[in-house]
Amino acid sequence: MECPKCHAPMEAVEFGVDIEVRRCTGCNGLFCKWQTLQQLRDEWLSDVVLDRGCASQGAKQNNMQGISCPDCGATMDSVQDRDQAHITLDSCPDCDGVFLDAGELTNMKSVTLMDHVRHLLSKLGR
Ligand SMILES: [Zn+2]
Ligand SMILES: [Zn+2]
Repeated sequence: MECPKCHAPMEAVEFGVDIEVRRCTGCNGLFCKWQTLQQLRDEWLSDVVLDRGCASQGAKQNNMQGISCPDCGATMDSVQDRDQAHITLDSCPDCDGVFLDAGELTNMKSVTLMDHVRHLLSKLGR
């Protein structure tokens, strides 16, 4: 499998017993199914283990649109994360695959924590 953004090979990386994703050996982007992404959101430390890339490089590559799905070759859509609209993911309309640029999984998980903190602070402020 080849990375849709930088064309380096993607390697299989396992997390826990039943989660497997593909990680780009060049830009550290991640590719998995939406269902797997949902599992990763819930897994403690999945971002630390899997998301090893440089967030600033990921942010640059996030601007690339109309990339081809590394699994089935369909043109991927840019979609906003349903919980955090500032995170843009590349979603495959055909095979349910999703590509995350480096730093996005970390962002997804850490912002969730920050949202909790903000929520707490807003309560304290009243
Ligand atoms: Zn790549
Ligand atoms: Zn696909």
